[in-house]
Amino acid sequence: MSRRRRVYEGKAKVLYEGPEPGTLVQHFKDDATAFNNQKRAVIEGKGVLNNRISEFIFTRLNEIGVPTHFIRSINMREQLIREVEIIPCEVVVRNVAAGSLSKRLGIEEGTALPRSIIEFYYKNDELGDPMVSEEHITAFGWATPQEIDDMMALSLRINDFMTGLFLGVGIRLVDFKVEFGRLYEGDMVRVVLADEISPDSCRLWDIRSNDKLDKDRFRRDLGGLIEAYQEVARRLGILFENEPKRSGPKLVK
Ligand code: UDP
Repeated sequence: MSRRRRVYEGKAKVLYEGPEPGTLVQHFKDDATAFNNQKRAVIEGKGVLNNRISEFIFTRLNEIGVPTHFIRSINMREQLIREVEIIPCEVVVRNVAAGSLSKRLGIEEGTALPRSIIEFYYKNDELGDPMVSEEHITAFGWATPQEIDDMMALSLRINDFMTGLFLGVGIRLVDFKVEFGRLYEGDMVRVVLADEISPDSCRLWDIRSNDKLDKDRFRRDLGGLIEAYQEVARRLGILFENEPKRSGPKLVK
């Protein structure tokens, strides 16, 4: 067996060269990090769950016409993706106050926001991903005004879709982070959803108990992270590899 070429290694994922030009293999690790890498752990099974959940959400988004980098699942930890040029801006969409927004603005966690709010953060580990405005993004050339418009429009569609998806299985989508990339096709370039969407990058609260079913269990030392991620996968109907394909989300009455 020949060794695959590692193209990039991040905190929770590795990208390998794919089987064809313009493709990559995205591998989900079990590593967990928080607070800009100051807190670290290996949580066995996390990568498998995130791969499964992210693959499910990206497939559903593709089906409703949200362009993504996802091509197909390869195995329990890996997916085949299109190679894109990552736009160095993280987009956070918030529906309910939590985390850094609560801290920054003194709004109690759990307060419903008057409307969905979009924020941008500059992807830079050394600086701890500072929050930036559209002015910074265009002035420094991280993205064009058209790309910002595309990212905002897609983020709102993703938010509407995921809010409904999770609500149907008794989960409140509090906030989430997404990343976009430029996909070059001939002389065309378009903005597509990249990276992952998983309980590592979303805040997901049980509708009835407000239990956290996301990475805050790790950030806040609550324990039970794998059980929480499994619960998300179970409710989405995707926990077991050998269950009938696409049994789909279970509606909570
Ligand atoms: N988030 C993320 N990666 C980051 C920062 C934030 O996935 O580097 C997600 C986080 O899980 C949450 C949302 O973005 O769902 C908003 O995070 P927030 O700004 O409140 O920061 P945090 O409290 O997570 O530091």
